Amino acid sequence: MAEPVGPGGTVGILGGGQLGRMLAMAAARMGLKARVYAPEADPPAGDVCPATRGAWDDAAALAAFAATVDVVTLEFENVPLATLDILAPLVPVRPGRQSLAVAQDRLSEKRFLNAAGVRTAPYAPVEDAGTLAAALEAVGLPAILKTRRLGYDGKGQVRLTTAADAPDALAALGGQPAILEGVAPFVRELSVVAARGLDGAIRAYDPVENVHRGGVLRRTTAPAAVDAETAARAVALAETILTGLDHVGVMGVELFHMPDGALLANEIAPRVHNTGHWTLEACAVDQFAQHLRAVCGWPLGDPARHADATMENLLGDEADDWRRLAAAPGAALHLYGKGEARPGRKMGHVTRLRPRSRALRVD
Ligand code: AMP
Repeated sequence: MAEPVGPGGTVGILGGGQLGRMLAMAAARMGLKARVYAPEADPPAGDVCPATRGAWDDAAALAAFAATVDVVTLEFENVPLATLDILAPLVPVRPGRQSLAVAQDRLSEKRFLNAAGVRTAPYAPVEDAGTLAAALEAVGLPAILKTRRLGYDGKGQVRLTTAADAPDALAALGGQPAILEGVAPFVRELSVVAARGLDGAIRAYDPVENVHRGGVLRRTTAPAAVDAETAARAVALAETILTGLDHVGVMGVELFHMPDGALLANEIAPRVHNTGHWTLEACAVDQFAQHLRAVCGWPLGDPARHADATMENLLGDEADDWRRLAAAPGAALHLYGKGEARPGRKMGHVTRLRPRSRALRVD
């Protein structure tokens, strides 16, 4: 196995948003240095570590960045594969190409999941009016038309309740390759945030319950209100996915818990995940430190939960309420240092702890 990147080493992070910022802060706590590479000026992570501004296809800038770091990781799953291909001969890149290739395309993602024995909502590929009509036959209604690539936080998605919605839905996605998914009448949404180390070891945080509004995460509650058998099944699915991808690092696996108890995978994110932010306060080793342990080849840390937690995102102007939140007893306030509070933009989050409700571990 490759030598670990020990204290004093430097982790390069592709992407400079809040996830990169929190990774850089965790790196500092571990005696590591961090540098980010991002296309935009003044990224949030640039407040806490050196930031290189460069395009994803700027081979010279990427090579110069690679020369200053010991390992490269990412906080953004839509880093082009060509960027990884430029970096990989120069420096270890973790997670690798396969995790990104699968997560970047909803069709590849669903096919990978099903091939790994993980169930999903019914789906069919859509290219045009003809394939949409066929997909509606196969999947049924209601359904959601989603772009295959670059959709996040509910963007690039249109709901269809009748077949008459088809032309408008297709037009809304502007002819981009898409998939049609059946709407899953879930009881709750769950996620598992888990890490896989360089040696293949896996550590999962307890499954959590998530509430989305308009496709954007509002709240995560840890642990999810599910029985131990369901929690263990959710963790086992995550383990199958991480191992199947030979993933190194943290991954977020989003699941639908169905009325009959089935767990359907919705989406995987090959990076630290918004539904894992609660681990900063409620676990000895949080998801950011855990991700760095994995990509640097350290032993993974104990993911045990020492408290229950609720994490709420602060979207858009909700962060203007920072004075009240800062004064609220027991509220751990995180602000991401973003300038413009566009509606729905993730500006920060608040975590509140409660005494631990039950067994620390799922197993
Ligand atoms: P996504 O961007 O695919 O993660 O979707 C964002 C959110 O939209 C999910 O967390 C769900 O709340 C909802 N959603 C997406 N796909 C489906 C589906 N097939 N059935 C029911 N709800 C869905």
